[in-house]
Amino acid sequence: MKGQVIKSTGSWYVVRGYDGLVYDCRLRGRFKTKGIKTNNPIAVGDWVEIRKETHQEAPDGKRRALIEKIFSRDNYIIRKSARKTGFTHLMASNIDQALLIATITFPRTSVGFIDRFLVSAECFRIPAVIVFNKEDLLNQQEITFTNELMALYETLGYQTARISVKAGEGLEKVKALLKDKTTFIAGHSGVGKSTLLNALIPGLAQKTGEVSAFANKGIHTTTFAEMFELDNDTKIVDSPGIKALGLVDIEPYELSHYFPEMKYRLGTCKFNNCLHINEPGCKVIEDLKAGRISSSRYRSYLSMLEGHDNRG
Ligand code: GDP
Ligand code: ZN
Repeated sequence: MKGQVIKSTGSWYVVRGYDGLVYDCRLRGRFKTKGIKTNNPIAVGDWVEIRKETHQEAPDGKRRALIEKIFSRDNYIIRKSARKTGFTHLMASNIDQALLIATITFPRTSVGFIDRFLVSAECFRIPAVIVFNKEDLLNQQEITFTNELMALYETLGYQTARISVKAGEGLEKVKALLKDKTTFIAGHSGVGKSTLLNALIPGLAQKTGEVSAFANKGIHTTTFAEMFELDNDTKIVDSPGIKALGLVDIEPYELSHYFPEMKYRLGTCKFNNCLHINEPGCKVIEDLKAGRISSSRYRSYLSMLEGHDNRG
C-alpha cells in the first residue's frame, strides 16, 4: 500500500496509508539517496510503499508496517549534518512552498536572515512566502517599514502577509496561502510559530514559550520534522528548532543566480564571470546606483558572498 511519511524519529516512521490509517513503520533493508550523502534515508513528505505486518493490531493498539520502497522525490530540503562533514540531513521532501515567519520586533528578524532564507528556497527550487507576525506590536514607523519590505519582496516574486496571531488578524490570508499546498514552515525562535500552528491546527497542543535570548543558540541537536494535515491537500511541515532552510555550498559566481533581480540581469554585465562587486561594466552595480536594485538586498548578497553563514 502507498502512503506518506508524516513523522520521523530517526529509527521509526509514522506513515499515513492510502486507507487513511496511521502506521508505525520500520525500514526493510537499506536505502540510499541518489546523488547526496545523507544521514537519514527517509524524510517527512516521502511517498513510500508499505507492507502491513501480520499481527498488525499490536496489543498497544498500534498498527505496524514495513517500508519497502521510497518513491522518487519532487524536491527536498537538506541541511549540512552537524555530526558528519560532507553529509547532509534530509529535512523534508515533496514540498510546494517554504514559509518564513518573521517579526520586525520582539524578536527582530534581520533582512539578511530573510534574504538567506530566500536564497535557500531558490536553491531548492521551492517558492517562498514571508509572513510578518506580531503587527499588533508595531508603531507607525515600523508598519511603514514592514509595508516597504512586503512591497520589495512581492516585486521579486515572493508572496507576503502581515498578521497578528495574537489579535487574530490576517489568519484568513495565511489559510489562503496554505490552501491545497504542502508548506514547510520556519522562523526564529519566538516569532510565534507555535502560536500560529496552534491557531491553524485544531487539537494541536504545541508548547509556546516566552522569547528567550538563549533559545536554540549553538545547540546542534538532530531535529525531525512532522507533517500536520489541515485537510487532504493542505499540509504543514514543521521542524522544531529549525530556524532557516539550511544552505548547501554555493560557488561565489553562482550566488547571483539565486537573487531573482540579479538573475534576470545575468548576461548583461560586461564580464560573464562578473561577481558584481566592482567590475567595470557591471549592470547590477549600475542598477543599484540607479535605485533599481534594493541596497538591502545587495548588502545581503555581499554578506553571503563573504561567506557569512546562514544561521542568522
Ligand atoms: P515560537 O518560538 O516561534 O514557536 O514562538 P511562540 O509561538 O512560542 O511565541 C513566542 C511568544 O510570542 C509567545 O509569548 C506568544 O504568545 C507571542 N506571540 C505570538 N504571536 C504573537 C502576536 O501576533 N503578537 C504578540 N504581541 N505576541 C505574539
Ligand atoms: Zn555584474
